[in-house]
Amino acid sequence: MTDETFRFQVDRIIQESQRVKTFRLRPEGSGLPFHFSPGQHLGVRPAPPGVPDHEHEKWRHFSLSSSPSEGFLEITVLNQGTVSDRMHSLAPGDWVEATRPVGAFILEDEVGHGPVFFAGGIGIAPIRSMIRLCLEQEQGEAVSLFASFPTREQAIYREEIKAWADRAPQFSCWLTYTGTETRPDTQDSETHPWDRPFLEERIERPLERVYYLCAPRGLMDLVENHLAAMGISEDRVRRERW
Ligand SMILES: Cc1cc2nc3c(=O)[nH]c(=O)nc-3n(C[C@H](O)[C@H](O)[C@H](O)COP(=O)(O)OP(=O)(O)OC[C@H]3O[C@@H](n4cnc5c(N)ncnc54)[C@H](O)[C@@H]3O)c2cc1C
Repeated sequence: MTDETFRFQVDRIIQESQRVKTFRLRPEGSGLPFHFSPGQHLGVRPAPPGVPDHEHEKWRHFSLSSSPSEGFLEITVLNQGTVSDRMHSLAPGDWVEATRPVGAFILEDEVGHGPVFFAGGIGIAPIRSMIRLCLEQEQGEAVSLFASFPTREQAIYREEIKAWADRAPQFSCWLTYTGTETRPDTQDSETHPWDRPFLEERIERPLERVYYLCAPRGLMDLVENHLAAMGISEDRVRRERW
């Protein structure tokens, strides 16, 4: 882990679903101490009261889910183990340390007809940052999002995604819920597994798009296979594997 670290104060905590929270982090000084590109991640070390000093040594990487145009950072964390659980016990006013953002999974300027995003579960975190910037800068004639969650209740940023769709005519999204208890939701969900006909019907000018994937391994493999079968060349596909 790099020696260069920065302190951020937890400003706001948003409960996105039962096990997922977004943390808004304000820098200690005025203004962000670094620039970042949407899609990048940074090391975070939470230090809630009551945790022994040696335990503070545990760092984990989290993708930035906010847009670089904002004066704060946001990270979105699934509670699944030691450090993420500690993150979930933070309260507004607590402090975390963070490293400089890194990572090559970034939104590129050259998007062709427009980016197509595939997100599975918590994998939507870096993609939210990318879409926010795309819509702010009106990048791409078309911006498409395929997002999959087990259930509607676990659909992170669901209201925000609907607001993008209402506001930005170039933005299209398809939310898929794969849980067994899911009932079809004709309003905003196809509840349809991602198979090749489903994607082909919805991705216009597929050979002129750039594809960004962040999802659990099996789902990434599935999408990669479909894209390859659709004739999408490998150099148009960007992926983030955690
Ligand atoms: C580039 C990158 C970006 C990332 N971005 C995000 C993000 O935006 N949001 C996010 O939530 N996460 C993100 N992650 C994942 C994150 O860094 C952590 O890996 C994650 O939070 C788990 O860390 P933890 O300390 O909570 O869990 P750990 O304690 O490290 O446990 C990890 C997993 O192992 C299991 N486990 C632990 N101990 C045992 C045991 N003894 N027996 C069996 N199973 C066990 C846990 O149940 C858990 O599923 C990212 C990772 C990378 C590499």
